[in-house]
Amino acid sequence: MMRWMDVEGRAYALDRLASADILRRRVSKALYEAALERVGGTLCLSAAERLSRAGRGDNVFIITGFPMENVCETDGPPGAAVLAYTLRELGLNPALVTDRLCEPVVRAVVEEKFEVEAVSIEGERAEGEAEKLLESYEPAALIAVERPGWNSKGEYHNMRGLSLSHRVGKTDYLFLGARRRGIPTIAVGDGGNELGCGLIEETVRRYVPNGDRCSCPCGGGIAASTPADVLVIAATSNWGAYTISATLSLLEGAEYRHDGKRELLLLERILKAGGVDGVTGEKALTVDGIPTVVNQLAVELIWAIASV
Ligand SMILES: [Zn+2]
Repeated sequence: MMRWMDVEGRAYALDRLASADILRRRVSKALYEAALERVGGTLCLSAAERLSRAGRGDNVFIITGFPMENVCETDGPPGAAVLAYTLRELGLNPALVTDRLCEPVVRAVVEEKFEVEAVSIEGERAEGEAEKLLESYEPAALIAVERPGWNSKGEYHNMRGLSLSHRVGKTDYLFLGARRRGIPTIAVGDGGNELGCGLIEETVRRYVPNGDRCSCPCGGGIAASTPADVLVIAATSNWGAYTISATLSLLEGAEYRHDGKRELLLLERILKAGGVDGVTGEKALTVDGIPTVVNQLAVELIWAIASV
């Protein structure tokens, strides 16, 4: 059994690595520190601890998929897939949730080996679907990875402040329903407009460009309003999901290991299903404009830090 201090120290290193502002967004530090204050402990370890309380055979929802124009972007689904593989190895039963637009990419990244559910764009319908999903799966936890989150006016936005409400399935209802039922919610985000970032809404409004004011008629800003119990902030959300996964492996002794080669494989599946880089808009093996080799190195580093 690993000494507790050692786990704490590694989790701190993972938090710092994943939130290092390599994209020079200039907001990572403020968002990370706000999340740290609200969560009250290292982010990846807090998230992993919540997940390790689930019992064998329990269902877990992993919500992901961020639309870029008419396709899903490359940040999110790989992180969701790696979490799904890790949770399955720990005896849990993960199901992925997204919307119709992102569904092909989400199905492709896990090679259809997990259930994939899609929530509608239309509000009343989405709310009904979310309730039904929570009733039928009775998930032990929900994790959102780079999933759009609505703002205080119920509208979805990209980082540029443009409305995405006509493309995004309203998975916020899943988080709201889970919170009402006392089911733990975990989220990973990098910009402040993602589901779960409501935990640090004031910080997003203050520091993130378009946080307080969007370019769409709603005028509510891109800051997401639905909170998570634990929010992991990363430079790019996949890395945040990987730190949770690596910390879970460390805590629970799971043997699933992600690496640079598998990272490439996941990105290839996404590209084949039509996905694009969310920053450059290109059909390339990059994530948020981060060169493939840098992304692969980060993956290797994350698992090196978490390895015994
Ligand atoms: Zn707006």
